Amino acid sequence: MILAVSKLKNPSSQPVGYRGRFAPSPTGPLHAGSLAAALGSWLDAQKNGGQWLLRIEDLDTPRCVPGADQQIQGQLAACGLHWDEEITWQSRRQEGYQAALERLNSLQLLYPCTCSRQIIANTLAQQGINTPRNQEMVYPGTCRPEKLTSYTTDELNGNKAAWRIALPQHSEITFEDLALGAQQQNLNQQVGDFVLKRSDGLFTYQLAVVVDDALQGITHIVRGEDLLSNTGRQIHLQNVLEFKTPHYRHLPLVLDEYGEKLSKQTLATQIQTQTDAQAHAELRKAAKHLGLRDLPDGENITIAEWLHAATQAWGT
Ligand code: GLU
Ligand code: ZN
Repeated sequence: MILAVSKLKNPSSQPVGYRGRFAPSPTGPLHAGSLAAALGSWLDAQKNGGQWLLRIEDLDTPRCVPGADQQIQGQLAACGLHWDEEITWQSRRQEGYQAALERLNSLQLLYPCTCSRQIIANTLAQQGINTPRNQEMVYPGTCRPEKLTSYTTDELNGNKAAWRIALPQHSEITFEDLALGAQQQNLNQQVGDFVLKRSDGLFTYQLAVVVDDALQGITHIVRGEDLLSNTGRQIHLQNVLEFKTPHYRHLPLVLDEYGEKLSKQTLATQIQTQTDAQAHAELRKAAKHLGLRDLPDGENITIAEWLHAATQAWGT
């Protein structure tokens, strides 16, 4: 009897079956911001005795840079951030996204949209809404049919429209972020019916990330705070597709000297990892961004030893 009870309990009181991931888009090599996200998610997985997967999010082919996926792998390896299992490439996983789209179609949750950005902007302007340039426009529902229906596979695959998901009237999403606390988003007010498949035939990040996180059994998503505003959409998709919602932890963003978010678009410079000393220095900077203090300065220890110390210091 005693044996049976103790067997049920997880002796280390760590979450069972933690699976995390790092999911870079190969639009360029890693920069300080993406390394901080990689390190944060890696440390969280190590601290919880979990797996850490690497997924290359190369869906938006026009934005992908040939060879960037190789560079990213080299940079992670140089920093001692080794991944478990096989790397996955989203460009090779179309069937999963198509199946999810078809499922949503059979639930009568999709409709085609032919609005250009300009048309959406004009419609919003007529309603007195002007969206600041760097903010996403809330889709005003222009193409949403009065009665939702499902479409034939030919219609779904053939026409040159974008496919949007029709949100329910009550679209308030709430979740507990492990770093930021209680979060809420009203999808109708802040996003509107959003695109799952673009008019050029590409599946969107929102759909692909939800399908892959579910198929790979990801339990913990640790990523930069710049992705926080996507989380409501992703939880909504998980709900309608009946996927489990993972835990989320959004990490503070690395800002440049002007207080702007570092990104590949703003030409953030790539991290230097040619030598161990360089990789060590980049890791120390990333740890500082993550708020880790009092770590060994790296002069006399290996990267593996330093990572071990950083794992000890990481709060769960
Ligand atoms: N591929 C996305 C990016 O690089 C991140 C996806 C995610 O972590 O959910 O911005
Ligand atoms: Zn439209």
